[in-house]
Amino acid sequence: MMLLRRLLSKPCAIRPTQSTSQFSSSSSSSSSASSSQSVVIVGSGPMGLSTALHLLETHSPSSITVVERDPSYALNSASLSAGGVRTQFSLPENIELSRYMLHLLGDSCANLTSLIQGVCEKNSVPESEIPTREEVASHVNFVPGGYLFLSSSADGAASLLKNSALQPSTEYLSSAAEIADKFPYLNTSDLTAGAHTPADGWLDPYGLLTLTRKALKSCGVSFPVGTASIGEYCSSSRRIKEVRVEGDAGTQAFHPDTVVNCAGANAGSLVPDEAGGIPVAARARTIFHLSNKTLAAELPQGALVPLTVDPGTGVWYRGVAPLRPGGNDFLAGSSPLAGEPDGDDGRVGDLGRVGRGLDPAHAQWEERVWPALYNRVECFGDAKVLNSWAGWYDYNTADQNGIVGWHDEVENLVLGNGWSGHGMQMGMGVGRHLAEVVRGQGRGETSVDLSRFGVARLRKGGGLIFEEGIV
Ligand SMILES: Cc1cc2nc3c(=O)[nH]c(=O)nc-3n(C[C@H](O)[C@H](O)[C@H](O)COP(=O)(O)OP(=O)(O)OC[C@H]3O[C@@H](n4cnc5c(N)ncnc54)[C@H](O)[C@@H]3O)c2cc1C
Repeated sequence: MMLLRRLLSKPCAIRPTQSTSQFSSSSSSSSSASSSQSVVIVGSGPMGLSTALHLLETHSPSSITVVERDPSYALNSASLSAGGVRTQFSLPENIELSRYMLHLLGDSCANLTSLIQGVCEKNSVPESEIPTREEVASHVNFVPGGYLFLSSSADGAASLLKNSALQPSTEYLSSAAEIADKFPYLNTSDLTAGAHTPADGWLDPYGLLTLTRKALKSCGVSFPVGTASIGEYCSSSRRIKEVRVEGDAGTQAFHPDTVVNCAGANAGSLVPDEAGGIPVAARARTIFHLSNKTLAAELPQGALVPLTVDPGTGVWYRGVAPLRPGGNDFLAGSSPLAGEPDGDDGRVGDLGRVGRGLDPAHAQWEERVWPALYNRVECFGDAKVLNSWAGWYDYNTADQNGIVGWHDEVENLVLGNGWSGHGMQMGMGVGRHLAEVVRGQGRGETSVDLSRFGVARLRKGGGLIFEEGIV
């Protein structure tokens, strides 16, 4: 409290540091040779990398810095994610963001390749370093296995029908019989409806991240390794004056024109205390990697088991690749149901906690996931867990939607946070939006209108916009 008062009483507050050395990075300084405004992006997950990629369409590489404390991506949420890309959401904004991802992935990543090759060519990257379409497609490995949401109540069916109307490509299955006809391996006895989007699917998030980062590095974007914090916030000008990066190489200080917060589950720590926090909490989620020998016998060889969201249990599962005789791999997991305690340490933006590895919640397999799988697909009784891992959801505790755009209190801070478990697929669309915002494009000028996702809605009360399709 005393510290806060002291900070507020001064026009500009410099935060204490335990650094051993401090210097301004020439690559990030606004006085560098670049004619562009300098931008520091914190976080090189899907949001941060896509922001840098889309910024490169107008900014010089020397004006863009992407800070990452975990360059191996060992703890990065996206690389630990299920890699799912779906158009089944209840808000048009979320659908549009995912549709952009699917647009990039379609036709063996034709549009993603053009985007990456375009910025590489613009920045004179040698041809040998520019990824070919085959390289992009094999890194990203998009599998269009589809999504299937199921309901077991009249209300659930009404919700699926309503949301299906927002997505023209959805096959709405209006009865248990229709579901059984299309997915004969499912127990449909308690089901009322289903919504199937066959063009949705999943990809290899680690492949996407490493491919994109490599291209950005080839272009000349700098990637200092270390933990970023707000070094200096000036409350009179309401600007972040310094981003401090502490890493093995010591402490670096950056003085960018604009800071873009793409810090995932840790986003809360990159908003000045004086400006009020953002409601992004780190919530643990476990994925189980399974093998099952018998499902292939019931289905045509080569069939794909869609990412299926089971009703009333919080459990989901999907195939990994087309089915083959003799054994197949699946992923499965679960989220708490409404009212259940969540895997949350109760603190927002707790850097130390989020920065540590997570043990999988092994008990979830026997207590929740396996019984639900067995109930829905009997031959999952044979399933064996091969492996499991856990990562942090970047959970917006207020309304589970992104918190996007200029911060309303901090003049030079842009937010791209709070994706609540669907940010891997939205990263490309959000990054394009953040780049447009940094360029000065306003409402009505951006590719997707995300003005409803602004941080101001969280303060006004009553402005919350709930997404029904949170898994
Ligand atoms: C188990 C699991 C399954 C999921 N499944 C899906 C799915 O199927 N589909 C989907 O779309 N999404 C899924 N998600 C959610 C998705 O992973 C996140 O929403 C997404 O990764 C958010 O992207 P991001 O770039 O904001 O954050 P991240 O991917 O977490 O990247 C943020 C980066 O910022 C770095 N960072 C943080 N703080 C600092 C700092 N102070 N200094 C320097 N670096 C910092 C971190 O090291 C990290 O690499 C899943 C998540 C989990 C955990």
